[in-house]
Amino acid sequence: MIRVVCPGSFDPVTNGHLDIISRAAKLHDEVVVAVLRNPSKSSLFTADERVEILAEVTKGISNVKVAKFDGLIVDFCRANDISAIVKGLRAVSDFDYEMQMAQMNYNQAGVETLFMTTNPLYAFLSSSLVKEFARFGGDVAGLAPDPVLRRLTERLVAG
Ligand code: ADP
Repeated sequence: MIRVVCPGSFDPVTNGHLDIISRAAKLHDEVVVAVLRNPSKSSLFTADERVEILAEVTKGISNVKVAKFDGLIVDFCRANDISAIVKGLRAVSDFDYEMQMAQMNYNQAGVETLFMTTNPLYAFLSSSLVKEFARFGGDVAGLAPDPVLRRLTERLVAG
């Protein structure tokens, strides 16, 4: 049984994330989407909201589970019998940092990192751009799943 993890802030989850998660689910027995709870970083959605949204948008993929974590992802991997971290790479600019992080995680705990190239449709996409464009009235339909679009409208109108 090969269990992998897709870690991130997912504030909020985008179609780029979902593409990586669903492709990873085809290649491994189980994918745990691990939502980073980082109290020192301000987020639009709480960790519980991000978990709830991810659970809703991945409910059609039976081998995807959603969890929350803080601290080191390698500790989360050890505690949950996870053998590899799956990361999406959008551009060369992602690569330097991701490679360094992957080598550190292997050095610290022997946890492997597998990179998947982004679907070119979503290569430009990030949670922060979706938030920024939504905040100023941009059209983000097609960039994030419906539950995110709904909540973005509620949150940004309310906020
Ligand atoms: P972080 O807060 O760690 O930057 P994110 O929640 O923004 O995390 O993203 C989590 C991971 O999802 C990233 O490390 C990256 O591997 C992947 N990712 C994000 N956006 C995309 C995208 N548009 N296409 C492919 N992978 C992506």
